[in-house]
Amino acid sequence: MKKRTLPRVIMTVITLFASCLAVAYSVKMQTDPLPVSGVYSDTLYNRLSSVGTSASAVEYDEYEADDTYIGADKKEAEPTSAVAREAPIDGTRNARDYSVVKVFNHRTKSVSDMPLEEYVACVVAAEMPSDSPAEAFRAQAVAVRTLAVKYMGEAKKSEHMGADICTDSGHCQSFVSYDELTKKYGERGKDVFQRVENAVNSTRGLILLYENQPIVAVFHASSGASTASSKEVWGGSLDYLVSVETAELSDDSLRDRVISEVSFTREEFISKFESKGFNDILQYKDSPFHTFISVKELSESGRVASTVIAGRSFSGKELRAILGLRSTDFEIGFEENKITFITRGYGHGVGMSQLGAVAMANKGESFYSILAKYYPGTIIGII
Ligand SMILES: [Zn+2]
Repeated sequence: MKKRTLPRVIMTVITLFASCLAVAYSVKMQTDPLPVSGVYSDTLYNRLSSVGTSASAVEYDEYEADDTYIGADKKEAEPTSAVAREAPIDGTRNARDYSVVKVFNHRTKSVSDMPLEEYVACVVAAEMPSDSPAEAFRAQAVAVRTLAVKYMGEAKKSEHMGADICTDSGHCQSFVSYDELTKKYGERGKDVFQRVENAVNSTRGLILLYENQPIVAVFHASSGASTASSKEVWGGSLDYLVSVETAELSDDSLRDRVISEVSFTREEFISKFESKGFNDILQYKDSPFHTFISVKELSESGRVASTVIAGRSFSGKELRAILGLRSTDFEIGFEENKITFITRGYGHGVGMSQLGAVAMANKGESFYSILAKYYPGTIIGII
């Protein structure tokens, strides 16, 4: 069974720091003039101005929060491991027009030019739970736009026929067009898209910056107690992709979407490993589970880092892939001929937790508080 032994004091400090930064976030949709408020915003704006980028921290207009909920199912997507593609945008950025993005659509196998904001809406509609409150949609829109702008500055075009970005969630970001969504969900799809467009329009042009560069704004469906750092999951350390506490388990309305349970009989379990060529496990086909399975190590964020199965070491990620688990944050229960995995969260766990964003929005937090929480140390700029 899993034991949680690592203190989360550091994460708490990071979270508090991020919350302070949230106060400093102030953004607005107009670019000229660029009013700022508060010492933090003023400092941030001056930093941005001094390097001559087109991104600026500006004041945020209060708006009417829309708390209407909608209901529609969503395909759970595994966001990209984009951290491996970390590369800065060069000094020509301020001369660049980000209004159009070249998108490679894997379904139609074609490249098309799309207005950036329309592209962002299609990704938010595909990636975010469709019953999300407005502030969570807005946070997701900023994350999606940030990744798109980041990719527009990178030389990945050869990977998608010259396009900046593709519609594969495993490579770039998921995508669903208005027509596809309404064809599938009818009036409900129209309603979802309208809400997404509202969130996109109200955050138009806003992106997340760290050291004046668009960040790797990765996200995932949900985490348990805390998110994971990029270093823990992919090996590359980024200052703003660190483990932070997340709130979805404290929201009773979300709990059932975070906790999941899946069981295997001994035959099912063994055949999954056998199909991967691990035949040593066959010698345990009549043995109780606890004699050949143990969790050896937990990660910094409390996820399963390594296990030993039939004498061989498997990382939590390997086990997750072999068994199709929702995350590496799991506990194991044994019965005579059954093993049960109780998982918390869904996805790699790095960056913004979508259900965590929903939980914060349900508590009345703003999209910039959500972003400051999950991408600590970043600031909001406008392209
Ligand atoms: Zn791609």
